[in-house]
Amino acid sequence: MSLNKKLSLFFVSLYLLSIALFTLVSLVAIRHVLISYAYGYMERYANPIVEFYLEAYKDIDKRISSLAEDLAGEDIGALVVDSKGEIVSFVPPFREEVVNLPKPEVFLKEKKGVYKNYAFLTKKVGEKYTVILLFRLKSIQKVQDELIRFVVLTASIVSIFILILVPPIIKRFLEPLSYLTSISQRISKEGPLEVEVAEAKTEDELGQLQKAYKDMVDRLKEVITWQINFMRDITHALNTPLTYIKGQIELISEGFYSGEELKVVLQKLLQQINRMETLIKKLMLLMRLQSHVPLSHRTFYINQLFAELEEEYEFIKESHVFRVEYLSEDVLWEGDYDYLKLALANLLENAYKYTPKGGLIKLYYKDDCIIVEDSGIGIEDKERVFEAFYRENKEKEGFGLGLAIVKAIAQKQGLNIHLESEKGKGSKFYLCRRLTP
Ligand code: ADP
Repeated sequence: MSLNKKLSLFFVSLYLLSIALFTLVSLVAIRHVLISYAYGYMERYANPIVEFYLEAYKDIDKRISSLAEDLAGEDIGALVVDSKGEIVSFVPPFREEVVNLPKPEVFLKEKKGVYKNYAFLTKKVGEKYTVILLFRLKSIQKVQDELIRFVVLTASIVSIFILILVPPIIKRFLEPLSYLTSISQRISKEGPLEVEVAEAKTEDELGQLQKAYKDMVDRLKEVITWQINFMRDITHALNTPLTYIKGQIELISEGFYSGEELKVVLQKLLQQINRMETLIKKLMLLMRLQSHVPLSHRTFYINQLFAELEEEYEFIKESHVFRVEYLSEDVLWEGDYDYLKLALANLLENAYKYTPKGGLIKLYYKDDCIIVEDSGIGIEDKERVFEAFYRENKEKEGFGLGLAIVKAIAQKQGLNIHLESEKGKGSKFYLCRRLTP
């Protein structure tokens, strides 16, 4: 059964239940009101007659049997009992037979009450007699029957209206849900790349669900597109050296090269193999960083890190101005030392690679950020430059993985990476412990 039908049935059941409850409470209330009215009516009706009898007839014994007759009426029956509880006279309500009347004690025990369809009231007449008045509650039955008939009729009409009107309203409410169902079915058949999820039209919970679903599908598309491009770039990066290696090995096996020439070709082959090895190592590192492998965590001083980097990249000083600015008051840093060093090493290598000879390369610390600055060729696209395999300057050797690795390391350590760069003027890479440098 569809959600729409279930909800419609639920509303109708809820409506019928509340109507039934309302009817029940109304019936009880009406009965209570009418019975109270009956007591009052009997009291007002019987008092003057009883008083008249007591005043008018000194010898009440002789007239007592006619008292019941005088008291009885269309809706009222009267029963007179003596002090022993014996029935002296009984006149049932007009055209009505009271069958199976219980023993008078039942009435005498309580001063007033309800017996079957009668409300009763007992009244003393002198010392000896008691009159029991029975008020026929037929009018209550009539009101009850009419109320039930009215409720059943209106409940049926309203239920039909609910069943006609509610499903389209629920359908409208559930529109985002049925839309998401059909979109999910399309995604499972055609794949997320082929499907465009529409913007939510409402701000309510279902609208928010559609928005979240759209964001999720868009993110999924991004990831799939990234994976496709990544695979294409890897294939391309490996295919070029492999084709070269295969071609050269074929020529060697055919005896095409000999002597000195063969040595040169073999050296070039080794270079290509080394390139492939570097590429695979970088890819493996990137994969490891993007997986959930935890990094090690320790505290260290910035000056120690700077000293090791200066020593390892001493060679930069041969062609460039390489300045490492040590802190006069050393700062403690927390994180994975080796990975942070690797990220800074990548940035220094890039600075060296993309800064013309004689240019300035600086490594320093400022306001919770470690900064690698150069006066090199600068960067055009400051966003895409962190994508794997994106390369702006293809004159230099490289795979376009260095900055992707730096970004992955920063993310893994909870650091913010920020780039300021101007074409032809230089670049500044920030690795910061806070949001903005
Ligand atoms: P690779 O250097 O192997 O190409 P990277 O991911 O390290 O890969 O860098 C991506 C691109 O960003 C480079 O191709 C280069 O165009 C640009 N780039 C990176 N660092 C610098 C820099 N310091 N100055 C100028 N361009 C840079």
